[in-house]
Amino acid sequence: LPTGQGLRRILLKLSGEALMGEEDYGIDPKVLKRVAVEIREVMSLGLQVAVVIGGGNIFRGAGLARSGMDRVTGDHMGMLATVMNSLAMQDAVEGLGMHARVMSAIRINEVCEEYIRRRAVRHLEKGRVTILAAGTGNPFFTTDTAASLRAIEINADLLLKATKVNGIYSDDPMKNPAATRYQRLTFDKVLTDRLNVMDATAIVMCRDNNLPLRVFDMTKPGELMRIVRGEDVGTLVTN
Ligand code: UDP
Repeated sequence: LPTGQGLRRILLKLSGEALMGEEDYGIDPKVLKRVAVEIREVMSLGLQVAVVIGGGNIFRGAGLARSGMDRVTGDHMGMLATVMNSLAMQDAVEGLGMHARVMSAIRINEVCEEYIRRRAVRHLEKGRVTILAAGTGNPFFTTDTAASLRAIEINADLLLKATKVNGIYSDDPMKNPAATRYQRLTFDKVLTDRLNVMDATAIVMCRDNNLPLRVFDMTKPGELMRIVRGEDVGTLVTN
């Protein structure tokens, strides 16, 4: 196995906000490029990388609903936002000379492929960065749930959730300086303590299908490679 860690295929979940970098809206090309470079590094070890990107930097259905829009319409806009982010990531990856494919859970065949599980696995086996867009394709879900669903479908060995903090804390570390970081957690503890990691649907999917989850800080360069090399970065959640 390429990494000495039993890792062969990973799914990386990036929030839309992670792509904003220093900007207040949209996408920061510098962030995209850095993430693409980090993906290239881990792929050079032979790892297969699938990516799920959120859309919160552009639209979130729940936010649009709060300002009076129909929730389902808002969620459709949110899913389309993830397609835009995914296209930007595909462009950044291709800009580095690698191959990438966006596959959308909502058919927009002029823009990208549709998600077909067997085809996604084939792209991964061919060493293409496979970017899974439009979440689950259903309203009322999140891209975190899409990430756990897709990771299970494609038999990923690990779900990596990139955030702005170095793992899961007992409380919000930005607000409470006494908050401590967990190195290891179980899915049940995340659920019973209502730790703010991913929504419960996503956590339950991981738990019931025994998919390990690592939460880490992607704003810190090099963390992805450290994880793949076996270092104990962020928080590992298992059963
Ligand atoms: N969304 C959805 N179904 C899905 C995934 C996403 O309806 O399966 C919509 C939902 O409105 C969500 C938006 O797309 O708010 C953007 O996704 P998310 O909030 O998960 O993005 P992130 O917080 O990761 O940037």
